[in-house]
Amino acid sequence: MAVAECIFCRIVAGTSPSVELYRDATTFAFMDIHPVNEGHCLVIPRAHFVTIFEMSSEDFAAVGATVAKLAGAVNKALQPIAMNIVQANGAVAGQTVSHVHVHILPRRAQDNLLMSWDRFRAGDPLAADPVRLAAIAERICAQLAG
Ligand code: 5GP
Ligand code: ZN
Repeated sequence: MAVAECIFCRIVAGTSPSVELYRDATTFAFMDIHPVNEGHCLVIPRAHFVTIFEMSSEDFAAVGATVAKLAGAVNKALQPIAMNIVQANGAVAGQTVSHVHVHILPRRAQDNLLMSWDRFRAGDPLAADPVRLAAIAERICAQLAG
């Protein structure tokens, strides 16, 4: 996708409107146009990256610093009961806009927003198998070392 066709690049450039919350040299924050809860907002890198895998650790750290700043402000301003920080890479993960973004999602009691995988799959042989977990961890650690 050309940067000129990216809605979030247009928002950063000011050629599409947004309710801006914050900007600095490398990041930008604004209200989500379809909030799932009061205070739902987004933090993005100003540069166009489709997923975090194209970003340097410095670029990602800058986004993280702005997420921490915005999450704290939302928490103080709106005093939600809890908060999710959500970021999707790829359509199967729920990514609908191809420009990296982090959702700040204040939570309300009984708001029915489900993080819907089962955390307690008792008896699931794959989840419970320590040999399998160790083998997967070994593959990840090989990449960290490489
Ligand atoms: P995703 O599904 O990719 O994780 O999240 C994309 C988010 O971007 C959605 O929550 C959607 O409401 C928001 N969004 C999409 N287009 C626009 C837009 O033009 N302006 C704003 N402010 N938010 C948008
Ligand atoms: Zn973009």
